[in-house]
Amino acid sequence: MKKGLDLSMQHSPEDFTCPICKQIDRVEKVSAVYEAGTSIGAYSGGTVGVGMAGGVVGVGVAQTNMTGMSQTNRSLRLAPPPQPQLPQGEGCGVGLLLFLCFAVGLVGLGMALADNSERLIGAALFTVCTAGFVSLLVVLGRKSRIKKAEHAQQIVRWQQAVANWERLYYCGRNDVVFIPGNSETCVPAYELYKLL
Ligand SMILES: [Zn+2]
Repeated sequence: MKKGLDLSMQHSPEDFTCPICKQIDRVEKVSAVYEAGTSIGAYSGGTVGVGMAGGVVGVGVAQTNMTGMSQTNRSLRLAPPPQPQLPQGEGCGVGLLLFLCFAVGLVGLGMALADNSERLIGAALFTVCTAGFVSLLVVLGRKSRIKKAEHAQQIVRWQQAVANWERLYYCGRNDVVFIPGNSETCVPAYELYKLL
């Protein structure tokens, strides 16, 4: 099982020996192990889900078939870094605030246009709500630009992490991950992220 060994790069074959057991027979490319684990036969494998519970976002892994379990767990531990998601907007709170400003502003406008003693109050309401509405939009726009810039940085970092992941090799005997040609980069499979 040496599939996925990429000997065409500038590495010598010795680079692919496991830094722990100094053997090559159980060494496989991490991406190949991962892909093999997610496409085995009929079993559906592990399903990674992202959900909300009590306002907290969590990631869960569900195991659906016992026979494929070890393969799937191993494959999941060797999974590539997940793509960062664009953070959600401000949510209902701010939307409600915007709507309130709009609605109260309209009421104020109606009062200001009416020919009675409440005209001044209406005009004041309308002015305050318009100012609130506009400044809310400005603040939201600025926040959204910052979030997008942060997300762009995360994407760059993630692409780098995926490129690093593509270089990793795995030894099934010692359950370790390493970068060929650099024996100092050898960590247990569950600490794979340290090499990304
Ligand atoms: Zn080994």
